[in-house]
Amino acid sequence: MERTLAILKPDCVGAKKSGKVLDRIEAAGFRVVGLRMVRLNAQTAGTFYEVHKERPFYQDLVEFMSGDRCIAVALEKDNAVADFRKLIGATDPAEAADGTIRKEFATSKQNNIVHGSDSVENAKIEISFFFSSRDLVETA
Ligand code: ATP
Ligand code: MG
Repeated sequence: MERTLAILKPDCVGAKKSGKVLDRIEAAGFRVVGLRMVRLNAQTAGTFYEVHKERPFYQDLVEFMSGDRCIAVALEKDNAVADFRKLIGATDPAEAADGTIRKEFATSKQNNIVHGSDSVENAKIEISFFFSSRDLVETA
């Protein structure tokens, strides 16, 4: 079993789409092993997306991610990282494939509803950003 980190972003939580998006995630075979409502601030959002700190969209991204609550979700499934990226679709909803979560729910390249880890290694780092091992349920 592999784990990945999802974040339901402020556009998702703020528009009350969290239930619908979680429903899609569970229907695709992911098991929730950790779930937490969080409010990021400029510092924590900046650290989470530090890899993008030289990119022109970084400041706006940090403001967006700290502008309302997020829901951090640790997910488990065979091939979770790649399968979750496939489920959410391309960063820009205009380029996301039909049937993907971003295609259905996202409104712009920035406001794209959900984050997904991009590698198994980053998934481990990102899950530990939001959860201690005690917060994660061991599954059978
Ligand atoms: P995420 O890391 O959130 O899962 P991603 O891996 O598809 O998304 P990244 O390239 O890591 O995309 O970008 C991180 C986030 O920064 C995007 O999800 C989006 O919210 C924002 N972003 C990326 N590129 C742009 C851009 N060109 N303009 C505005 N926002 C952007
Ligand atoms: Mg990314």
